[in-house]
Amino acid sequence: MTAHSNIYPTKALQDLDAAHHWHPFSDMKSLNKEGSRVIIRADGVWLTDSEGNRILDGMAGLWCVQVGHGRKEIADAVYRQMNELAYYNTFFKTTHPPVIALSEKLAKLAPDHINTVFYCSSGSEANDTVFRMVRTYWDKMGKPDKKVIIGRWNGYHGSTLAGTSLGGMKGMHAQGDLPVPGVHHIDQPYWFGEGHEMSPDEFGVHAARKLEQAIDEIGEDKIAAFIAEPIQGAGGVIIPPETYWPEIRRILKERDILFVSDEVICGFGRLGEWFGSTHYGMEADLMPIAKGLTSGYLPMGGVMVSDRVAEGLMLAGEEFYHGYTYSGHPACAAAALANLEIIEREGLVERVKSDIGPYLKERWLKLGDHPLVGEARMTGLVGALELVPDKKNPHKPFREVGAAGVICRDTSFGNGMVMRAVRDSMIISPPLVLTHEEADFLVATVEKTLDDTYRTLMRDGWL
Ligand code: PMP
Repeated sequence: MTAHSNIYPTKALQDLDAAHHWHPFSDMKSLNKEGSRVIIRADGVWLTDSEGNRILDGMAGLWCVQVGHGRKEIADAVYRQMNELAYYNTFFKTTHPPVIALSEKLAKLAPDHINTVFYCSSGSEANDTVFRMVRTYWDKMGKPDKKVIIGRWNGYHGSTLAGTSLGGMKGMHAQGDLPVPGVHHIDQPYWFGEGHEMSPDEFGVHAARKLEQAIDEIGEDKIAAFIAEPIQGAGGVIIPPETYWPEIRRILKERDILFVSDEVICGFGRLGEWFGSTHYGMEADLMPIAKGLTSGYLPMGGVMVSDRVAEGLMLAGEEFYHGYTYSGHPACAAAALANLEIIEREGLVERVKSDIGPYLKERWLKLGDHPLVGEARMTGLVGALELVPDKKNPHKPFREVGAAGVICRDTSFGNGMVMRAVRDSMIISPPLVLTHEEADFLVATVEKTLDDTYRTLMRDGWL
């Protein structure tokens, strides 16, 4: 079979897939029985499957296709680079023009105190890099006891050893006996799910002070860093109350620990700024990046390093024994440059802030009136709906968490739109090029999906 086997019937593709392809984050036994949906092409915000259905990609792939699918100019840039220099490494005193140009570009886009990038191929690798970097930084600063990294329950930082450990997904920790030693988790700022006995503002401060308590308990002299996503994505688009980040900022100012803002989802315009930490007025010491860096056209990640950390790591004049064969890969760097050029030329970051972001948000929040929805929330171009069994008692969950979410997700796919379920939260993160008409289609489809889901849940005795 060739890579372009559009001529094969869906069933044949599904059978071959089931026989030989192990999917990420999947129950392979049930997936193989059911058969995967085969996506064969995409253009703009639209996916086409092997049955000819057009589906609105409400998740921008996996939160990454900022500029939309099918941008020939990125493919052309990669083609040109591959003909010139398809691969060379950046170890052992070598470099190449695309990685130089990309690094200069990223330094310009980042806040003033961040001027260097360490490259890798994914968000997980970026956080593995962070893990070693923060500990090595403190060694170099003559404080080798500062080793503990504080993350948050239900945070997501990837699925490698360090990524899984820094993240706070208990189901992931259970597979592989993680976290590794030296990681501590504090509660997340999830008002709807965990804080509704207080006002959102009170709860924001309360959740932030968990950091202060952890620092006091463990000892500031033992803590290397605090890592957090500006908005938790995979955890269910948890948008913290407005008081959360200002209180974290106060605590970090008083304590000598590094702040790592995981920008893998929130970076590159998702919140209407180049970086999510900027949206919340936070100054990060390290920023892991991936996804929107290339809009997913080729795999690339990195860690943006502040001058403070870069200078600290360089202090002893010793090698940082860390790097990947594909660190700064020329073709990926060319894809990233072409992608960033599109984002800039089309003003996509500003568009999220003052055009499509507010346009979609206004309509999205109205979905909060639906009888199945306990809360609708959105910031920038990332949002969630909390499905609840009893709108009058909205914080009471379904008797079995997750079943309603899966029904709603599958219904949404059937109605022509990708919407993901996390527990019973429905989440979206569409491409930044979404037009007003497409936003209208998105909201109308979600409304229909909620109606259909409501009927199914009634029929099956969930409500
Ligand atoms: N950090 C965050 C915030 C993420 O959302 C993700 C991926 N969803 C990662 C890290 C890991 O990135 P990757 O899947 O590219 O390894």
